[in-house]
Amino acid sequence: MNYSNSSLATYKMISPNKTSPRNHVIDTITIHAMAGNLSVESCGKLFAQSSRKTSSNYGIGTDGRIALYVEEKDRSWASSSSANDNRAVTIEVANDGGAPDWHVSDKALSALIDLITDICKRNNIKQLLWKADKSLIGQVDKQNMTVHRWFANKSCPGEYLFQKHFYIAEEVNKRLNNTSNPPQSSTTSSNEAYASSTSLAYKVGKTYTLQSELKVRSGAGINYSIKKHNQLTNDGKTHDKDKDGALDKGTVITCKEVKKVGKDTWIRTPSGWIAAIYQGKVYVK
Ligand SMILES: [Zn+2]
Repeated sequence: MNYSNSSLATYKMISPNKTSPRNHVIDTITIHAMAGNLSVESCGKLFAQSSRKTSSNYGIGTDGRIALYVEEKDRSWASSSSANDNRAVTIEVANDGGAPDWHVSDKALSALIDLITDICKRNNIKQLLWKADKSLIGQVDKQNMTVHRWFANKSCPGEYLFQKHFYIAEEVNKRLNNTSNPPQSSTTSSNEAYASSTSLAYKVGKTYTLQSELKVRSGAGINYSIKKHNQLTNDGKTHDKDKDGALDKGTVITCKEVKKVGKDTWIRTPSGWIAAIYQGKVYVK
């Protein structure tokens, strides 16, 4: 698993309070409330004290600025649950109001939605799921958001953010290009069915995720030449960790053009053409 951190974080103060590396892939988001109106700097100073034994992966100030405190590859000490924090990205949000609502600013809420969208894209989380149901902890195919109050006797993340979870999930999912309807479950639809239902559905301007490492070609079809690492865009290069010219599994690409070649579908990315559907198999979703 290749971990990265959000480029939306403009401030960084790495906390010693963490377990490195995390022991589980990232498949969960846990939103916390700071229970105070801390700037990203002052929250970072608290987390910098090892005696406090607390941290989060990210923090968001009332001004909407985002900080990185614990890299995504590491487990933060945030939610009173080792199991949760090993699989979750934890985010502390500053409160511009007090108990019991622990209100957060619109700027912070909007930054939170952007940050979670980015986390989901980079970690291949297709959809954010929230049911407000504690009994679904760990069943990430049904619910992949958790709250601190489920693991400890706390009000965190406060009533305001707790009630906003449905809205946050909805807004993130819009940005992840899901429709308002729940997508078909991967267990009930074969890859082939997915292929036939989506073969014409790739849209220019939308983003998609590579389901495996894919070669990049100079044109739409296997007769076109395969690109080398140094022929990719600068962004493409960062998604070719082994420098063989093929974009890594999990890379999120922007569709610039779609071409049907026989039964296959090719997508043009900024770096070149990749096979989205090839011989009935879906490589890009
Ligand atoms: Zn908390």
